[in-house]
Amino acid sequence: VRITGIFEKAVPVASTMRNAAFDFSEMTTSVVAVVTDVVRQGKPVVGYAFNSTGRYACGAAMRARFVPRILSAAPEELVDDAGLIDPGKILQRMMLREKPGGDAERSVPIGTIETAVWDALAKILDRPLWHVLADRFADGTTAATVPCYVGGGWYRPEGDLAALSDEVKRHLGAGYTHIKIKVGGASIKDDLARIETAIGLMAGANHLAVDANAALSIGRMRDYAVALASYGLRWFEEPCAPLDYGSFAGLAETYRPPLATGENLFCLQDVENLFSFGGFRRDRDILQVDPPQAYGVGAYAKMVACVEALGGSRQRIFPHGGNMMSFALVAGLGLGGCESYPGVFAAFGGFADGMEVRDGHIALPDHPGIGFEAQPALYKLMRELADA
Ligand code: MG
Repeated sequence: VRITGIFEKAVPVASTMRNAAFDFSEMTTSVVAVVTDVVRQGKPVVGYAFNSTGRYACGAAMRARFVPRILSAAPEELVDDAGLIDPGKILQRMMLREKPGGDAERSVPIGTIETAVWDALAKILDRPLWHVLADRFADGTTAATVPCYVGGGWYRPEGDLAALSDEVKRHLGAGYTHIKIKVGGASIKDDLARIETAIGLMAGANHLAVDANAALSIGRMRDYAVALASYGLRWFEEPCAPLDYGSFAGLAETYRPPLATGENLFCLQDVENLFSFGGFRRDRDILQVDPPQAYGVGAYAKMVACVEALGGSRQRIFPHGGNMMSFALVAGLGLGGCESYPGVFAAFGGFADGMEVRDGHIALPDHPGIGFEAQPALYKLMRELADA
C-alpha cells in the first residue's frame, strides 16, 4: 500500500457560542484527506480527519513539513511486515528533523494527518477503526455501547436561564443522561443559578459537570471551588491554566470532588507531568486529551497505557472532541466515555447518522474506518477535498 497524495484545507467552524475564555467567531479546523493506491469499487481508498474543535486550522505546517516528508519517503519505509501502511512509521517520518519539546506547535497537524492514516488503514482492512484499535491496543473485545455525555451549556448571545433550561431538556429528551455546562463566563451568583437550573432537571448533581475553560484567575478559581464543593458535581473542568500544575495540585488538596483537565495538553510528557507534579488524583480526576490534537491515535493508545502504569484508570479518560475520532478511541480502548456536541459546530459536531443515544449510551456502529462517510455534511467537505 502506498500513499499517493495528502490534501488539506481550512474550514470555518462557524459558531456564535462563547465559553469563559473566548468566542468561536473566527474558529477554523483543518480537514485532511490521505489518498492511497488501494482501489475499491473503482475509487482509491481515502482516509480523512479534521483537527477537532478549539484549535485553528494548521495547513501551513502540514504543507511546509509533514506532507512533504511523508510523500518523499520510500514507500517501503512506511509499511509494516504485511505491506499495510504503518501509522507508527508515518508518525516517525513526520517527526524527522523535529527539535524535542515545543509539542503544541506540531502535535495538531501531525495528529490530524496520523488520524486520517488510521481511517485509511481501517477502511483497507474493511473494519471499523474502533475494532482495529481494540485488536491492536487492547484485548480485542469491546462493550456493545459507550457512555456519552453532552458538552454544552455555552454562553450564547441570547442566553438566559430559560434558554439553558430548554437546552438541558432537549438533551435529556434526546436520550442523554449526563451534561456539562460552562462556568466562569458570568458572576459566580449567575453561574450558580445556571448550575441549579440544570441540576433541577437532571437525575442528580453527579450527572452535571462544569467547565471553566482555564479562564479563572487563581482567586476566582478558589472562590468557585468553595461555591461548587457542596453540590457534588460530576467534575470541575479546567479550573486553572492548562500548564499551571501547581495551582491544580493546590486545588486538589482542598476541593474533594473530581477535577478534570487535559484538552490543552498535547503530548505524553504533559500528561506525565500532570501525574507527577499536578496533584492529579488517580482515584477520581478526569483526563481529557484530544486525540488528533495530541499526535493522533497511536500516541493516544500509548498515553492510555502510560496512565495505567502511573496508577490511573482508562475509565477516567474522557477525550475532548464530540466527534467520530474520539468515539473510535473510547469504543476501541474502553475509555470512560465520549463527549458529544449535538447541534453545534455545524458539520464538525455530532456522530454518524443512525447513532442514537439511549439512556446516555451509544451503540457501536459498523461503518468501516472512522465512519465519516455516514456524516453527510462533513463527508461532502471531505470528498470535495479528495476529488479536487
Ligand atoms: Mg473543556
